[in-house]
Amino acid sequence: MAEETIFSKIIRKEIPSEITYQDELVTAFRDINPQAPTHILIVPNRVIPTVSDVSGEDEAALGRLFSVAARLAEAEGLSEDGYRLIVNCRDHGGQEVYHLHMHLLGGRPLGPMLAPRR
Ligand code: 5GP
Repeated sequence: MAEETIFSKIIRKEIPSEITYQDELVTAFRDINPQAPTHILIVPNRVIPTVSDVSGEDEAALGRLFSVAARLAEAEGLSEDGYRLIVNCRDHGGQEVYHLHMHLLGGRPLGPMLAPRR
């Protein structure tokens, strides 16, 4: 079984967070360190460490990430101007928390997709 991270405690409401949506497959909550006026994390309830660990049985939960992202974007007033969905994978992707999650970012123009090469 995959190792739990702080996100499992958030999903089980064992530590406080601002949960904006929860169902039997996914949970959405506001990022503790927002990078845009709206910054919500949408995560499968079951631990999948990274995109590299995804299997066919995860397809329902991963599809739900997108439908919930669209619903939350609408609720946050982002649908018309647009927004960005990001899933980081492992070291080069900049993943910090090894519980697969989708970032929903919006509320201002978000600039280029990637930071300039250093
Ligand atoms: P990653 O870099 O793994 O794609 O993104 C992890 C995100 O989780 C970061 O944006 C970080 O601010 C957020 N995060 C880390 N710990 C917590 C926490 O305890 N609560 C909340 N709400 N967000 C967290």
